[in-house]
Amino acid sequence: HMPTAELQALDAAHHMHPFTANGELSQKGARIITRADGVHLTDSEGHQILDAMAGLWCVNIGYGRGELAEVAARQMRELPYYNTFFQTTHVPAIALAAKIAELAPGDLNNVFFAGSGSEANDTNIRMVRHYWALKGKPSKSVIISRKNAYHGSSVGSGSLGGMSGMHAQGGMPIPDIHHINQPNWWAEGGDMPPEDFGLQRARELEEAILELGEDRVAAFIAEPVQGAGGVIVPPDSYWPEIQRICDKYEILLIADEVICGFGRTGNWFGSETLNIRPDIMTIAKGLSSGYAPIGGSIVSDEVASVIAGDEFNHGYTYSGHPVAAAVALENLRILEEENILGHVRDVAAPYLKQKWEALTDHPLVGEARIVGMMGSIALTPNKEARAAFASDAGTVGYICRERCFANNLVMRHVGDRMIISPPLVITPEQIDVLIERATKSLDECYAELKA
Ligand code: PLP
Repeated sequence: HMPTAELQALDAAHHMHPFTANGELSQKGARIITRADGVHLTDSEGHQILDAMAGLWCVNIGYGRGELAEVAARQMRELPYYNTFFQTTHVPAIALAAKIAELAPGDLNNVFFAGSGSEANDTNIRMVRHYWALKGKPSKSVIISRKNAYHGSSVGSGSLGGMSGMHAQGGMPIPDIHHINQPNWWAEGGDMPPEDFGLQRARELEEAILELGEDRVAAFIAEPVQGAGGVIVPPDSYWPEIQRICDKYEILLIADEVICGFGRTGNWFGSETLNIRPDIMTIAKGLSSGYAPIGGSIVSDEVASVIAGDEFNHGYTYSGHPVAAAVALENLRILEEENILGHVRDVAAPYLKQKWEALTDHPLVGEARIVGMMGSIALTPNKEARAAFASDAGTVGYICRERCFANNLVMRHVGDRMIISPPLVITPEQIDVLIERATKSLDECYAELKA
């Protein structure tokens, strides 16, 4: 390929990056990833980088699995595209829907495909409102979500999300979306014991339902473990209370499994790990391990049977795209036949947990939380006080992320929380390297703050 500087100049001239200050980036030049294998990326300068984020939380089976390339090529030759609108279908969409129904818990037996998690959450907004309309309760249109949640970037899914920085731009949220607080004990729990705090935060859902009117609330959406909001692991008291409230007021529960699904928490779905019984699950990312863009909604028999009573005027050109569906199916085969969830449960997650939690010995690290293969640490100037850094300290998380990059480790930061979500196939030896590079980066960050 062209020299790095030339590629960076072309990138700066023509490529608008998502979630990026493009002016600032054009000054420094983007890091160019050219290849990947297993848990490692290679950049245009030949650095080998350990990807502790699995791309954007998605490359669950790891990079470089040639089987998926072969399946994609075969499917492109046989049937590169056909749609699933207007009473037609094709073999990959049929097979994938059936496989997902087999893996999903309870009566979640019906799949509405989309091209991404954002699109799937847009489907969910329309589907739950349409469901209640068909049940003769059209006033039930409000969807309750959580502050700091990320559910996608389309106008609908971005409205479900609770990120103030997103809502400040481009006219979101749409009407009839309401946000309650998340159960972030470290930052917001004050003197309360975590379990009391979890209950209090769950009861905000009940308060919101009563305030808005039971007859107006259609659904509650949340991730089993909030990912992009900072890997916020809820206190154990939180989800049982949320489930009780949804059941009591007949509110549909949507579990956004875009990150938590397909092995990330050690089970097929985060809802199983957190013991939740959703009516709808949003899926994407790990469904294809990111090898092809595909997402969808897994819908309960009850909801699907009501929706089946009318034409649902909704769908995407790429709903159930045959190449993406075939790739996803092959990804699920690998996850299953290679017992990658077993590797997570028995090997990788216990080892990572032990190493990750030991990071609290570092002077910069307050709490360390981890569920399966998604974890976070809170950076703090004062552990006992669970203090946040003053905003004029620069974003300490950003400094730490840059140190990680320089040390050939991809970790992400959300404010002053550092987060990881490595490929599920990571080995204990690779976890040692991850922790070594993370510790070195934290040391450098600490030294920079002291200077
Ligand atoms: N939901 C969750 C929980 C996510 O983390 C994301 C993406 O990060 C999305 C939805 C949106 O998915 P996509 O980027 O595929 O549209």
